[in-house]
Amino acid sequence: MKKEFDAATRALPHVQNLHAYVPGDQPQGTGWVKLNTNENPYPASPKVELAVAAQIQQLRKYPEPVSGDLRAAIAERHGLNSANVIIGNGSDNILDLITRCFVSQAGAGQTVPSYSLYPVVVGMSDKGLIDVPFTRDMQLDLDAIEASKAAVFFLTSPNAPTGVAFSLADITAVLSRIDGLLVVDEAYVDFGGETAIPLLAEYQNLVVVRTFSKSYALAGMRVGFALADAGIIRMLDRVRDAYNLDRLAQAAALAAFEDVTYFEAQLQQVVATRERTRSALDALGWFTYPSAANFLFTEPVDATGASGAAVAESLFKHLKSAQVLVRYFPAHALTCAFIRVSIGTEQEMDTFLTVVESWLKHA
Ligand code: PMP
Repeated sequence: MKKEFDAATRALPHVQNLHAYVPGDQPQGTGWVKLNTNENPYPASPKVELAVAAQIQQLRKYPEPVSGDLRAAIAERHGLNSANVIIGNGSDNILDLITRCFVSQAGAGQTVPSYSLYPVVVGMSDKGLIDVPFTRDMQLDLDAIEASKAAVFFLTSPNAPTGVAFSLADITAVLSRIDGLLVVDEAYVDFGGETAIPLLAEYQNLVVVRTFSKSYALAGMRVGFALADAGIIRMLDRVRDAYNLDRLAQAAALAAFEDVTYFEAQLQQVVATRERTRSALDALGWFTYPSAANFLFTEPVDATGASGAAVAESLFKHLKSAQVLVRYFPAHALTCAFIRVSIGTEQEMDTFLTVVESWLKHA
């Protein structure tokens, strides 16, 4: 007879209750216009391919454990030292390391809505999460952030899914008013936000988190990094997997990071396409948040002049039936009347706008 083990009841109680992160659809097959996970529509720098190919012969050997070359290059670009940098297997890995090191019984805090991985990493640590809700203007409630008394507060700037960036004045106010650590998640900052990196010189309680997934077009490689005081980085290194980045990822990220000309050119293209798409949505009379990111959060209005959750869902479904994937967040009052559209190529955005027009005619 088979010996039994009931994982559902034997797992630790907080794991039994954990809701795993739900990634956006990654459809298989061809023909999809994929505007749902904020990927870069352009390939990474051509130098990435060469750098990765050069590593293939070396795969029998372990990678360099601390991603030292990448730490040094990133530190130099930002006027810091290698001791101020840690590299993660995606920035999701960094968010988990921060949680494991610094989220005490006081719990973590987040604004709502923001990135839906924060509840997952905090939940994995069996700690509480305090929500600071936005109102429709999507500006920071500094009093509520201070009152949360969170050990770690996660702030996404530019925010997701809105694209709204916070001012350095607001971020400085948060840093001076809280006792805990402020994590400024700058996953999208290259597309237009103001970086909090200069504030590292004055605030030891700041961690800035970045990713290669969006602006460097390397989502498939899984590379992110954090910048912080050396003392914080030392702690994060203690809980980091010894070989958290493989050889290919280290080489790819370094090659992409060093090809500044290519990086700037594709970035400008994405921003130009964003602004053109935004104008088209403005012309439809739709409300769209000002975006400093590579996506737009827009509130569709149907042919009868109606907006709201049913209208957003109708457009989401219509787009999907035409193989255009965007993101719809039905669970929250501030998001359910909107869709989030990642910025694709010029042609992809034309397809998106054409399908929107057909929805306006037939819905
Ligand atoms: N932060 C935010 C706000 C994000 O939207 C994402 C991507 N979904 C990440 C972090 C994670 O990026 P990655 O793990 O690919 O570096």
